[in-house]
Amino acid sequence: MPEIALFATDLHGDIHEYEHLLELGSGKNVKAVIIGGDISPFLTVLGDIALYQREFIEYYLLPRLRDFKQKSGKDVFLMMGNDDLKVNRDVLEKGEKEGLFRIINQKVYRLGKLHIAGYSFINETPFMLKDWEKSENDIKKDLLALAKKSDPKRTIYSMHAPPLGTALDVIFSGEHVGSSSIREFIEEKQPYLTLHGHIHESPQVSGHWKEVLGGTISVNPGKQNVLVFDINDLNTMKLLSV
Ligand SMILES: [Zn+2]
Repeated sequence: MPEIALFATDLHGDIHEYEHLLELGSGKNVKAVIIGGDISPFLTVLGDIALYQREFIEYYLLPRLRDFKQKSGKDVFLMMGNDDLKVNRDVLEKGEKEGLFRIINQKVYRLGKLHIAGYSFINETPFMLKDWEKSENDIKKDLLALAKKSDPKRTIYSMHAPPLGTALDVIFSGEHVGSSSIREFIEEKQPYLTLHGHIHESPQVSGHWKEVLGGTISVNPGKQNVLVFDINDLNTMKLLSV
């Protein structure tokens, strides 16, 4: 029997996208839903962004995932991304304690016969929010530590930033802005599968949502797409758009 996983990233508080993802997630044979960072809405005008994100998590996300868990019983794995303020981690942790989902940043959990691990931090950007930025050197150290917690060849890594110099990290100008340490990690450890986001426009600009580095498949589905795959057969991977 297939064991389907769904992966979506950079939902940025878009309720339409969440509803679509969780509707698919309730389907037969779905084992897990993975949400790869930038979960809460981003305010582009002046305002209390921390409070805005907090209220989104508290009044939409947690009740919705409680309802999803109760009705479907499926596993949800999620993590914050660079646009999710760290100050709200406590609200998210309340949901985790309640058993609604697992927060996978720098952690490893079982997913069928495989493992799932997460990494929220990104390489440095010119943007204002610095909560989840680290130097390439620190990213490298973190990933080596994470790799020791499970066999990378049997682990799916959800890493918010994409690997540098691939089809997954291209911005509108054509520049590649991914992480060199993430690329090195993939090339050296050859994980089972890596899932990325952060650069919403990359699949559209590069024309590809999938990249192969050595024997590892890496995916950035972009915003408003859901990656659907059987965790035991990566040839089944396809993208569904919202
Ligand atoms: Zn984003």
